[in-house]
Amino acid sequence: MTAVRAVSFPKTPGTIEFFCCFFSLTRQILSMSIATPAASTATFSPAGTYDALAERVLAGGSITREEALAILDAPDLDVPAILAAGYRIRHHHFGNSVQLYFLMNAKSGLCPEDCHYCSQSKVSDAPVPKYNILKRDELMEAARVAAERGAKTYCLVISARGPNEREMNAVEKIVPEIKQKYNLDICACLGLLSTEQAERLKACGVDRVNHNLNSSESHYEKICTTHTYADRVQTLRNVRDAGMEMCSGGIIGMGEAKEDIVSMAFDLAELGVKSIPVNILNAIDGTPLEGTDAMSAQDALKALAMFRFVAPDRELRIAGGRELHLRSLQPQGLYVANSLFVGDYLTTKGQAPQADYDMITDLGFEITGSCEEVSLDR
Ligand code: SF4
Repeated sequence: MTAVRAVSFPKTPGTIEFFCCFFSLTRQILSMSIATPAASTATFSPAGTYDALAERVLAGGSITREEALAILDAPDLDVPAILAAGYRIRHHHFGNSVQLYFLMNAKSGLCPEDCHYCSQSKVSDAPVPKYNILKRDELMEAARVAAERGAKTYCLVISARGPNEREMNAVEKIVPEIKQKYNLDICACLGLLSTEQAERLKACGVDRVNHNLNSSESHYEKICTTHTYADRVQTLRNVRDAGMEMCSGGIIGMGEAKEDIVSMAFDLAELGVKSIPVNILNAIDGTPLEGTDAMSAQDALKALAMFRFVAPDRELRIAGGRELHLRSLQPQGLYVANSLFVGDYLTTKGQAPQADYDMITDLGFEITGSCEEVSLDR
């Protein structure tokens, strides 16, 4: 029997050391299956493992598209080894911190676009709330809740192709007030933005703009026909040129090929986005994607890990669909991801905040909040 090699993981708390030792052992046992991932154009050499990929990334190198695809194609039994290797990269850049985000659907439904995954689109029959942009007091109350829940960032979201003048004015007015009172970072998700709109958001104090690519360029026309992938990329460029951080990710499990997920990951890394939310499709009844086959928890974990390898130093968030698809494996996702939404999503329920706090502390991880002290006893 081959002796188990000591693997030096970064210094971590006790529970994590146990986790790493377990994964180290698992990796040794599984190394033969790692050598030849099925249905992939890339093969890892017999001497190599996912750990070798992590070593390369930690040394400043990168993985190839073929290697990224091999991670998605890997057998489920490789998942522990993939996560262990991905955790090394996550720990190097983010330690054991978890950043929490709080979503506020400031305007719901009524969207003229036809994004097939979205319950708020014009082609959706899903019974979602429909309202125009909320009043100041409601937006401030949501900010108070975000701060109370230990969120670092308040994500102000509207359903729209892009913001109209009234919506721009409302955002320009509320953002300085929220920042001054609650010390929250502000991420605005307002749809397509012109250069001028991006500059106005920067001027009023918006730190970051979320605008997801959602899928690959080649898959995009299958999920939306009212705007293009290029439109979305241009908005991200406008955001970047205005001096704000870019938050952009996607939705996996929409019937795309694995190559599409890889392509999106590389596009996001190359665009220089700071934060990558990865949603796992919640195929809501009444949307065109209703009935889409659910992605398995194991495949979702492989995809999350692949994003960590491709974009090692970017914030990686497990976004919508986390509870539905990862279920009891949610904690494992945090070995590669370093961020979560706490509370509900735009039109679907999340698990109770206390369940998230418990999961994070049970892992031995720490919440990085906006407040000096984050009370976890809710
Ligand atoms: S633009 Fe946004 S709100 Fe409108 S349909 Fe697409 S995803 Fe939904």
